[in-house]
Amino acid sequence: MIICPNCGVLTKNDISVYSEELRKQNFLMSPVLPVCIRCGREVQITHTCNGGHIIALNGTCGSGKSAVAEILAGKGFLAIDGDCVIQTVKHRKKVKQVGFNEMADEIAREIDILSLFGNRFVLSTVILPEDLSRYKEIFESRNLKYRFILLKPEYRTAVERCRSRTCHTSVTPEYWIKHFYELLRFDGGVIVADNTNQTPEETAAYILRAFNKNDENI
Ligand SMILES: [Zn+2]
Repeated sequence: MIICPNCGVLTKNDISVYSEELRKQNFLMSPVLPVCIRCGREVQITHTCNGGHIIALNGTCGSGKSAVAEILAGKGFLAIDGDCVIQTVKHRKKVKQVGFNEMADEIAREIDILSLFGNRFVLSTVILPEDLSRYKEIFESRNLKYRFILLKPEYRTAVERCRSRTCHTSVTPEYWIKHFYELLRFDGGVIVADNTNQTPEETAAYILRAFNKNDENI
């Protein structure tokens, strides 16, 4: 059920889901914030995702996860990006800092919202090993088949890519990437892809081939 506080009950054709206004500069993907296209008010959606596939792209900034997610979005995947999720939470809760629990809750909410429009999702965000189980819980409770992919180019490559695409201004890319590069180590359950010598298009094609070949397990 979709309800606008002004216009009442709506259908999915009456809403706009991605907010370009909340979008950060240098970014192609937009935050998820569904509004009524008639009056512009934020709408309430009670709907739970039940079934589908999700590709969770993990990696430091400069790893290429957002660039790959953008390409998959262009191929019909419904995209959720971590930076955009933070923008949405800041906007909705009027807060400056966003903790992991708020972030995870918002990702779950966005999967539910987007599932009105399809059942193939791509999530690009930094996922720490200790948070993996929370993501699995979100996906499994929605009957989503999931695959975690850690994009891990060589450290130098990530730093170079990060320079051309500003992610954090408070610390240097070197510091930031090194910090997460060390943290993002998994014992299993995650596919590690070294995309040092790949363009985002090539990485996306590789992921899609795996997706199409092995649809049951992705
Ligand atoms: Zn309205």
